[in-house]
Amino acid sequence: MIEVGQADRILAENVALLPTYDCQLENAHGKVLREDIRADRDQPPYHRVTMDGIAISTAAFDRGVRAFHRQGVQAAGRPPLRLTSPDGFIEVMTGGVLPEGCDAVIRIEDVELRDATAFLEYDVSPTPMQYVHLRGSDGVAGDVVLRKGVRLSPAHVAIAASIGSSFLRVSSSPAVAVVSTGDELVELASEVEEYQVRRSNVYAISAALSAGGYGEPNLCHVGDDRAALSSVLADLLDRCDLLVLTGGVSMGKFDFVSEVLAELGVENHIHRVRQRPGKPLWFGARGEKAVFALPGNPVSALVCLYRYVLPYVERASGAPYRSPRRVRLSREAKTLPEFTRFLPVTLDSRAGELTASPVEINTSGDFLSLGGSDGFVELAPASQRVLKTQSNRSDGVLALTSQGAAAGAEVPFYSWRVT
Ligand code: AMP
Ligand code: MG
Repeated sequence: MIEVGQADRILAENVALLPTYDCQLENAHGKVLREDIRADRDQPPYHRVTMDGIAISTAAFDRGVRAFHRQGVQAAGRPPLRLTSPDGFIEVMTGGVLPEGCDAVIRIEDVELRDATAFLEYDVSPTPMQYVHLRGSDGVAGDVVLRKGVRLSPAHVAIAASIGSSFLRVSSSPAVAVVSTGDELVELASEVEEYQVRRSNVYAISAALSAGGYGEPNLCHVGDDRAALSSVLADLLDRCDLLVLTGGVSMGKFDFVSEVLAELGVENHIHRVRQRPGKPLWFGARGEKAVFALPGNPVSALVCLYRYVLPYVERASGAPYRSPRRVRLSREAKTLPEFTRFLPVTLDSRAGELTASPVEINTSGDFLSLGGSDGFVELAPASQRVLKTQSNRSDGVLALTSQGAAAGAEVPFYSWRVT
């Protein structure tokens, strides 16, 4: 059995990057960019006027000119006009190019226009390049404007569009299968006997994967039948990049999943992690294909999905590792000796800080309580003995068992909401 941190390291070492394809910009939102995108020209590409008004030369103003005569109108989207007379002005509009020979814009409200003459208000004193967004001031041609690994938001799409990228190289969605195993499970549409349960896990896993943009999973089911399991998994391994199984990885008589995966050439990297819930977690790989087998218990399956599977697929998509958000515990929470504890919580924003309050849960199988939670926090194992510098024992060890994470402690938080 390994520690949670060790499981993280193993997963990081075994990330198989998904293939890429060139995606039309209109469909690129939410995908992970797999190339750096560089500006094709300066940004802004010209001295851009930022106010409706008149453009003049400040040299004329410095010589004492206060009445300027009209030489033309510079509309947005037109090539630059040229100021031919030093005490002339050109009317300008926001977004248009600064006419040649001009070096300042005066707002329309600071000017009195009479026929073809513009009189500056007495308190107006223009400075060079005022109300001009200077060419290249935001970026220059060749600058990287989008870095590979970014998950494309609408703002990123706008940036790509502004430099004329009509196709972007992005990660393809994995072909995913989500497989429930177990003879006790029935389809939603079927009659359910008292001793049977509906296979709810696969719907949760599929919802989280598709919400994260990780493909549209194929949902499958196999009973506790070794031969059937072998033939279904062999077929799925051929067709899919990612398999997420639930159930059948514990110590039960009918828990065949790990043996069957091994027979199919899936190399096991993780089996059993010091954590509650979720101890039986199994992970393996065959070439570029990744297989997670999560415990059947619905709380365990969900926790393992959010704690390991989603971050793994995020990295396989080419996005960099993002450490989880940290929140403060609103009250003391019990930790477990030698096991990491995942504890469902509700979040509250207090004085601008997120605080997490543990949700009471009946048993490890009580997944109805999750409905009232926002996610879960991760509590490191309790150290059995607390080192204390000021101890009355000669070995410096206080003979106390640490029972919990203190109120106010900062802990990692995993949200049920998939972004
Ligand atoms: P297992 O890990 O196969 O021993 O399953 C543990 C328990 O989890 C089973 O007794 C089921 O009640 C429950 N379970 C397994 N798979 C599912 C599933 N797909 N949906 C809901 N509950 C499940
Ligand atoms: Mg089972």
